[in-house]
Amino acid sequence: MILEREEIDMDNMKTGVAGGSFLIKQTDLEDTFFPEDLTEEHKMIQRTAQQFITKEVHPRNKEIEEQQEFDVVVELLKKAGDLGLLAHSIPKKYGGLGLDKISKGIVGEALGNAGGYSVAHSNHTCIATFPITYYGTQAQKEKYLPKLASGEYIGAYCLTEPEAGSDAMAARTTAVLNGAKTHYLLNGTKIYITNAQFSDTFIVYAKVDGEHFTAFVVEKDFPGLSLGPEEKKMGIRGSSTRSVIFEDCEVPVDKVIGEIGKGHIVAFTVLNLGRFNLGSACTGGAKYAFKQTIRHVRERKQFHQTLADFGATKEKIAKMAARLYAAESIQYRTSYLLEESLAGLDQKEDACLVRTGMSEYAMECAICKVYGSETLDYLADEGVQLHGGVGFISEYPIEQIYRDSRINRIFEGTNEVNRLLLTGEFLKKSMKGLLPYEEAVKSAFGQLVKESTNTTEELVEDLRALYLVMAEFARRKYGNDLESQQEVLMKLSDLAIHLYASESVVLRTEKSTQNKALKKQLRDTVLEEAVNQTFLIVRQLEQELLEDEQAIRQQIYASLTSHSFSQSIHRNRNIAETMYEKGEYAG
Ligand SMILES: Cc1cc2nc3c(=O)[nH]c(=O)nc-3n(C[C@H](O)[C@H](O)[C@H](O)COP(=O)(O)OP(=O)(O)OC[C@H]3O[C@@H](n4cnc5c(N)ncnc54)[C@H](O)[C@@H]3O)c2cc1C
Repeated sequence: MILEREEIDMDNMKTGVAGGSFLIKQTDLEDTFFPEDLTEEHKMIQRTAQQFITKEVHPRNKEIEEQQEFDVVVELLKKAGDLGLLAHSIPKKYGGLGLDKISKGIVGEALGNAGGYSVAHSNHTCIATFPITYYGTQAQKEKYLPKLASGEYIGAYCLTEPEAGSDAMAARTTAVLNGAKTHYLLNGTKIYITNAQFSDTFIVYAKVDGEHFTAFVVEKDFPGLSLGPEEKKMGIRGSSTRSVIFEDCEVPVDKVIGEIGKGHIVAFTVLNLGRFNLGSACTGGAKYAFKQTIRHVRERKQFHQTLADFGATKEKIAKMAARLYAAESIQYRTSYLLEESLAGLDQKEDACLVRTGMSEYAMECAICKVYGSETLDYLADEGVQLHGGVGFISEYPIEQIYRDSRINRIFEGTNEVNRLLLTGEFLKKSMKGLLPYEEAVKSAFGQLVKESTNTTEELVEDLRALYLVMAEFARRKYGNDLESQQEVLMKLSDLAIHLYASESVVLRTEKSTQNKALKKQLRDTVLEEAVNQTFLIVRQLEQELLEDEQAIRQQIYASLTSHSFSQSIHRNRNIAETMYEKGEYAG
């Protein structure tokens, strides 16, 4: 039986920070985790992953990009397995290292700068393995996890179909029990499946009797499974992407993962972790893009000076660095929350508890995905721009980074779908009474009339108040129809994303004792951008949502204009100079 979330004792969560509560109230410093808090064990796995990428993967990039059979990627995956880099999130009991979710983020980030290889690796350790780790039977865990941890088996995750992309539940793949009741016969086609060429296990979603959406683990040698041709892609060419075709594919009945008809729980809760992981990988990729760009602007001379000397370059570099500071802060903060909700869950038999833990931070994971992928796109794009013509020439890494970046806004739920999910989930949780929405809205209206002290904490409170007030006006105007007002939901989510990023950098800067002056500068550049963007979004929303509420309208604008940022140009020049000195991102 699946329990509703409110029936579950959430006391086992150490921080008591409910998912989405950043939209309601301030998070305490002691409930946060940032890169400065990494332990020696975390740093060890970080070093191992970074060295693996620089020593084993980067030197073979050309081969990886040009390969036909993916034997280089497979060879590297096996090497990663030998180093424990496929095993971090698998329990010790099943041959893994049983590390925390912070370590998962660390490995994800370190691997993020290796194009197609990164995608193959992340896909395997995350969405292709977690369905078994969290929802598999004892026998499935014993059989598959040790092999997936060592790299003896490589995995794939098969959800998308020709008629079922964002609308995954529209799947047409069917599973019908055979006469002897020993096997399900699967029929259908999955498309764009990462790692398809060399996978040993496929997590497949099919509808039992055409109705009950269910997850299965399917082995490559099961009769009736075949692959379509390799797709020719814009980027991540080092990863295999093929269709997987099932024609009366014989899958033993003990290969059902979780319950019949509950495959959507497996599929969507696992995607939450996939989205977090993608955010980490994108942050790593963006750091790499940044490093390439710094190197170039410091070397290339025009008008008798380096590109780095131009004020226009410095402003771009500072904004790129600030974006990285925010992305990194978001990722580590979220990894800590995930650890709180997921620690030990892979040992639990209770599917309901697992589901709750895996979905508690769905909103934060959606932000990781959106913010991370848009950070990488932003840095890749500005990186190409700062390279000038050579940025367009394949010989330079930034050209591949730009092409590889683009997919991240599409897979693991498009960024539009994730934005819709974010505010949709918040309102759903609030209306169910799982978040103290009414109380928060009341204090948000109060916050708007408070005299601002122009501190960073106050600024975050104002951003939160603006989100809540706008969400409340949207709710009042549209009621149950709000779900179909996508233009409004998307804008609300953009406010929420700026809020999460802003609060994360404020908390991290306050907590940290290292590089405090630089952190304050990075923080202020993030906040300035967030306030400017919030202003534009709120202006559109208030015109749509407010009618004769002139007093509130004035309060909103007063709140938005109460935060000023002096010496932006000077601050950004300082940030750029520090990044030039370091030769890479430093936060
Ligand atoms: C290289 C690559 C690797 C992939 N790997 C895998 C894999 O390993 N396993 C797997 O299962 N899938 C994989 N995918 C599939 C990927 O997850 C889907 O492409 C993605 O979910 C989007 O689905 P779609 O392509 O059908 O786009 P669509 O769903 O057709 O979306 C097209 C556009 O419409 C928008 N849209 C869709 N629905 C809505 C809505 N309700 N409201 C507003 N806008 C909407 C989308 O945001 C998007 O901008 C991969 C894809 C690629 C290209």
